[in-house]
Amino acid sequence: MTEDNSIAARLAQILRRIDEAAVGAGRTPGSVALLPVSKTFGEAAIREAVAAGARRFGENKAQEIRSKYEPLADCGIDWVMIGHLQTNKAKDVARMASEIQSLDRMELAIALDKRLQQEGRAIDALVQVKTSTEPSKYGLPPEQLPDFLRRLARETPTLRVRGLMTLAINAPDQDAVRACFRSLRQLRDRMLDEAIDGIELARLSMGMSGDFETAIQEGSTEVRIGTAIFGGRIYGDDHYWPEKKSGA
Ligand SMILES: *Cc1c(COP(=O)(O)O)cnc(C)c1O
Repeated sequence: MTEDNSIAARLAQILRRIDEAAVGAGRTPGSVALLPVSKTFGEAAIREAVAAGARRFGENKAQEIRSKYEPLADCGIDWVMIGHLQTNKAKDVARMASEIQSLDRMELAIALDKRLQQEGRAIDALVQVKTSTEPSKYGLPPEQLPDFLRRLARETPTLRVRGLMTLAINAPDQDAVRACFRSLRQLRDRMLDEAIDGIELARLSMGMSGDFETAIQEGSTEVRIGTAIFGGRIYGDDHYWPEKKSGA
């Protein structure tokens, strides 16, 4: 028998590994959600994942959400923006995304809120925090988080803050990777003490194909998985993901 290498099989396998990692970390199975990341993959692959039960998909470019939105409208997909978003693309996300996990600066929050008001919509938002020391990675510096959350609570009512997101350092050193995840959870725990009205921080989006088990051990509630479900991307990560160099 040949190995079943379909998207459905890989999805099922990832869900199993997520639950195994949760149980291994003394957590409840089902307590960690999966966000399949469909960036660079087309309609056919996404339809396969939908047929296998997936409804939310992560994308790192507003243009890509825009180009997939209409052709896949019949699937009832919730599009989740997980990549660096330029302020001038806020309109697409306000119109088509159900959530943004890469909220990392006030200028963007204000642009999104303005567009969301125009659309008569509100979306969930996770604040992307920079937990690694790599120079070019996006994300809010952790020390700015308290003020940022207070301003979001006051100024951008259409962004429902639900938690934090991070990308770990892109390095083979698992201790360094783990330290990024741990620092996000600790930062969240400290922020809970501040109890800012209207700000919820239950969700921690951390972990990708290469490091999600470590992230789950450190308290991730949601892992963002692309390669392990859809396969390798045709373009290198430095093409689609400018903050990360491919081949590392
Ligand atoms: C591409 C991407 C992922 C998924 O990465 P894989 O290594 O393919 O699982 C997760 N998060 C973000 C922000 C991404 O851009």
